Amino acid sequence: MDLLNTLVDKGLRRELPSREEALAVLATSDDDLLDVVAAAGKVRRKWFGRRVKLNYLVNLKSGLCPEDCSYCSQRLGSKAEILKYTWLKPEDASKAAAAGVAGGAKRVCLVASGRGPTDRDIDRVSKTIEAIKEQNEDVEVCACLGLLSAGQAERLREAGADAYNHNLNTSEATYGGITTTHTYADRVDTVQQAQAAGMSACSGLIAGMGESDEDLVDVVFSLRDLDPDSVPVNFLIPFEGTPLAKEWNLTPQRALRILAMVRFVCPDVEVRLAGGREVHLRSMQPLALHLVNSIFLGDYLTSEGQEGKADLDMIADAGFEVEGAGTTTLPAHRADVAGAGCGGGSCGPCGDDSAVPAAAEAPVAAVAEAEAPVAEAVGAGQDARTDLVAVRRRGAGTDLPPNA
Ligand code: SF4
Repeated sequence: MDLLNTLVDKGLRRELPSREEALAVLATSDDDLLDVVAAAGKVRRKWFGRRVKLNYLVNLKSGLCPEDCSYCSQRLGSKAEILKYTWLKPEDASKAAAAGVAGGAKRVCLVASGRGPTDRDIDRVSKTIEAIKEQNEDVEVCACLGLLSAGQAERLREAGADAYNHNLNTSEATYGGITTTHTYADRVDTVQQAQAAGMSACSGLIAGMGESDEDLVDVVFSLRDLDPDSVPVNFLIPFEGTPLAKEWNLTPQRALRILAMVRFVCPDVEVRLAGGREVHLRSMQPLALHLVNSIFLGDYLTSEGQEGKADLDMIADAGFEVEGAGTTTLPAHRADVAGAGCGGGSCGPCGDDSAVPAAAEAPVAAVAEAEAPVAEAVGAGQDARTDLVAVRRRGAGTDLPPNA
């Protein structure tokens, strides 16, 4: 397929595909899926070999958020039966983080619900970062605390935060349909503050909220412009009790095409498979390892992930290897910052999700082989699989051991 040959060539040269090419990836047919995965896999292996970075989420503060992000089980008015608790003590957060590190996680992502931290919250998180780094010298720490105010990024950096996560989530055009309490521009500003303070920026998206192919390409191109070191790709987990509870729009094939498109647009960036992989990719998860070079280990913020042991087995069985602490995640030309951002968190779910306006438009076409439209897969009338969504009851904030 000429399209795929072109995209591989561009990916190996770190050259940006055209919008039409990115849209054409989303529009490929299921018959071409393995070719798409193989092509994007070449780009993945060029920049990251067969390494898989493991990341571990610690939800420092869960639920009771005053913001109204429609996809989020922690939002204002959410009826989802999630755990709700206020700030974990530094020693408890450190203990939770240690479980992830023991399971092979190289990065710990400290997430807190809320619009953004107060200066007192920054004090607490700084103490938590110090506690974690005292116990686990080599671990990378990413903070994910929402919108930052002036000076807060610098304080986190000084406290030892290696990275900051804040997701764009969806295109600028559709952003107002998922959240009314803050803007897309607010989110861009926070990512830029993190970068300016010298932290590795992590920013990604949520797919499956009813967005069009154009929206998906828009947000990924916007992320490429922002140039984060890592891009988490969440697939909406339609929590009962949130406005997007009925949005079961994804098939495993669609999810793989989205990941391939992200890899082609961000060839040398840490692409992280984040919340929703278990419920949407299901038995196709191993194929996604050919596209992403990073996943979360264990549970998400408010939902249960696959068992850590199952993830480690999957990685080994698929012929990949867990990235060790002594290895730099990013290719040499990008590796001047410690790692590659977080990615599942707070203001960009890792375990929650649901949300947006419906607008599944037909995909593009300009590129030759763009066949069978994807819009048919989106909203294809899949039955809701609410049995697949399990609220997290273990780990941080509970007396039960985590699922790392
Ligand atoms: S995504 Fe973040 S800001 Fe939005 S409702 Fe959830 S916790 Fe609050």
